[in-house]
Amino acid sequence: MSDIYHGTWFSSLTSRGWAAWLLAVILTAGYVILYWFPSIMGLGSDGAANTGLVGLFDPLSMYMKGRPASEWFVYGTLYTMAILVMGIRFLIRYRGSRYQTYRTLSVMFFQTSFAFILPEILQGLNKPYYDFKSIWPLNHYFFLDYNLDAMLQAGTLGYFMLFWGIAAFVLITPILTWFFGKRWYCSWVCGCGGLAETAGDPFRHLSDKSTTAWRIEKWVVYSVLVFVILMTVAVLTTRITGFRYIMLIDSGTLSAWYGFLIGAAFSGVVGVGFYPLLGSRVWCRFGCPMAAYLGILQTIKVRWPWSDEKKRLSKFRITTNGGQCISCGNCSTYCEMGIDVKAYAQQQQDIIRASCVGCGICSAVCPRGVLKLENM
Ligand code: SF4
Ligand code: SF4
Repeated sequence: MSDIYHGTWFSSLTSRGWAAWLLAVILTAGYVILYWFPSIMGLGSDGAANTGLVGLFDPLSMYMKGRPASEWFVYGTLYTMAILVMGIRFLIRYRGSRYQTYRTLSVMFFQTSFAFILPEILQGLNKPYYDFKSIWPLNHYFFLDYNLDAMLQAGTLGYFMLFWGIAAFVLITPILTWFFGKRWYCSWVCGCGGLAETAGDPFRHLSDKSTTAWRIEKWVVYSVLVFVILMTVAVLTTRITGFRYIMLIDSGTLSAWYGFLIGAAFSGVVGVGFYPLLGSRVWCRFGCPMAAYLGILQTIKVRWPWSDEKKRLSKFRITTNGGQCISCGNCSTYCEMGIDVKAYAQQQQDIIRASCVGCGICSAVCPRGVLKLENM
């Protein structure tokens, strides 16, 4: 599989040429319109019928939930289509690898069923819109008033949603991460990861591998985690006590800023819009608080002082057989998380970096079979 990305650096689209810039402008403009100017998409306001792009999706929306499309329905449909179409491309590209086949089918399934069809049907039944696999802190609005109110007013199903959302964060995520590392979520379940692995695959080599980027990554991603924790504590405190200002900060303003800066600008405009220029995992590396949480859990497991060394590491490390390495650099080049895999391979060091999402691509593109993703 070593020549799987043959020609990547000669294409204008995948080597930051004019086609890449054009696509980046189109994608970022699309996100800006979606978030802040949806009327340009033809969204009918004040009861007026949809026109333009949104109007084109009305028949599908009527069929699925008995009401006209919204800009978010259009986005969800296009997002899912991108994962499905580019997922099929990825499946063909890696048809020899069982691990790549299973995890790609997994992200295609979770996006289509959990993130798209089920929430739309729930909405059609006048139940809260809910993506059961989007877990706080990635789902930053889970504890916001409007979402809590929607769940609390939805009877048994709403209480189940509330219970599930809390259990997913407090119990399910730590348990699965303990056994499988962060890969179970980032490379098998998450919608952001799913888009990165499929639609973002042609751009994975553009990730910044420098140590400066690694330093920035650690600071920024854990800062976002602190931001979402503070924001959530503030809005919950306001809900319980009625005090709007928590330590001189208006909790409503804090959540609005989080939504604007992180939820929209970072995850969408930069995270996806810049795929063709910065690679496919900018959001996952630098911005996703869930990735930070999973990384902390993974690190706790790896550094757990009381368990047997080999047993605990064997669960989700990448082992190296550096004696066979020919220094081609494929592994580092195609690591979407910017990890300098070659350096680890040459020092015969296992890779247990908190940022590794266990995509297995470094192993797949190594021409010498040096790298082995454990627990595959
Ligand atoms: S080190 Fe390998 S498995 Fe981990 S993120 Fe990079 S390419 Fe994927
Ligand atoms: S481990 Fe060595 S041989 Fe394998 S892809 Fe990396 S640099 Fe090339």
